[in-house]
Amino acid sequence: MNKKTIRDVDVKGKKCLVRVDFNVPMKDGVITDENRINGALPTIKYLMDNGAKVVLCSHMGKPHNVFNEVISLNKKEKKAVEALPENEREAKKAEFLEKAKKDVKKFTLKPVADRLNELLDGKVTFATDTVGQDAQAKVNALKDGEVVLLENLRFDKGEEGKDLEFCKKLASFCEVYVNDAFGTAHRSHASTAAIVEYGLVDTAVCGFLIEKELTVMADSLENPVRPFVAILGGAKVADKLNVIANLLEKCDSLIIGGGMAYTFLKAQGYEVGASLVDMDKIEYCNDMIKKAKDLGKKLYLPIDTVVTSAFPDPIDAEIEVEVVDSSNIPADKMGLDIGSKTVELFKNVIKEGKTIIWNGPMGVFENPILAKGTIAVAKSLAETDATTIIGGGDSAAAVNTLGFGDKMSHISTGGGASLEFLEGKDLPGVSCLLDK
Ligand code: AMP
Repeated sequence: MNKKTIRDVDVKGKKCLVRVDFNVPMKDGVITDENRINGALPTIKYLMDNGAKVVLCSHMGKPHNVFNEVISLNKKEKKAVEALPENEREAKKAEFLEKAKKDVKKFTLKPVADRLNELLDGKVTFATDTVGQDAQAKVNALKDGEVVLLENLRFDKGEEGKDLEFCKKLASFCEVYVNDAFGTAHRSHASTAAIVEYGLVDTAVCGFLIEKELTVMADSLENPVRPFVAILGGAKVADKLNVIANLLEKCDSLIIGGGMAYTFLKAQGYEVGASLVDMDKIEYCNDMIKKAKDLGKKLYLPIDTVVTSAFPDPIDAEIEVEVVDSSNIPADKMGLDIGSKTVELFKNVIKEGKTIIWNGPMGVFENPILAKGTIAVAKSLAETDATTIIGGGDSAAAVNTLGFGDKMSHISTGGGASLEFLEGKDLPGVSCLLDK
């Protein structure tokens, strides 16, 4: 890792603005999964123990913007209002705003501050605004080793809009900027990159979570113990074009499952019935099949598939399925999971691997009847001694729900960010930090 971390700078007595990812799942104001809070604790504790004044900031969900306690309509609502005859607009606007006022409370970080305060021995306060009077007062009152969490960054449209004035206010809370939000490291927002890019802070480093994510993933990509097996699944080929191309260069074997496999099967001349196919990516798939051959890499596709007559609606509806060979998918059926022969094939490849990266489910795993392929892959990964890296998002959720979390070497905290990293892209939240 070529970026400076909090270990490389003096933080004693300094205001450290730490961008964390506290975008935790919540139900009725109760946090339902604390993984992201726990992920940020090593950095926060280190800064506290080393006498920093810790100012934490994060986003939570996609709320309406709130300025000086005035809530504005979001884009969709504005459009809906404008589409109405003039005499109906005011009433509709008032209705939306009333709802927004209730909704906005769902996006407050207060429950996170309360939980953090319990975890950190009562050293945490909460600012009821992001860069307003309360935030300023609470930041100014911080003593060494104390922590304040600012209210949801996305209540201010300056966050996603990279507004200079907003960045300046954030920067006034900051002698040392620390990014530890891997989940948003692929976004270029005020708190994730712009505050540094605008030259508003001199010292910008990463925390332990980003350091760990980058070190584990970069090591596996650049110096893998071989054989290196990459497993890709999920919905569409189009979403993972660069990941496929980049991983093919690095791995020894590439397994493709999930919805994206059918475009590859179609490219190979199979009929795939009503399965998900990106027709304009057929040529790309052929290029990748050729690239694998030219590079001497093994590319594995499903040899059988679980088919249904229609996509389940609702997604977890009870459905009738049958298993057919990939060469024999009926015209009126769609493939929604890998079949049992494919599970065996993939298992054997996984068994041989010494480094394994997995991103994307093998089927529509939201439905228990179509989750078998994804579960089997998760189980095989849990059983190997290989270094196993789960690239966030759905695969991480699947592994955690199945209780295999502690059997994996690393589960990324950022779905989008890990995918962009696997594509070989620079992450704005990382590239803005000081080099070692
Ligand atoms: P992604 O966000 O690209 O990782 O895709 C995850 C989504 O892909 C999940 O919601 C799955 O239900 C969906 N998916 C997986 N396999 C299939 C398939 N064979 N057909 C349609 N959708 C699928």
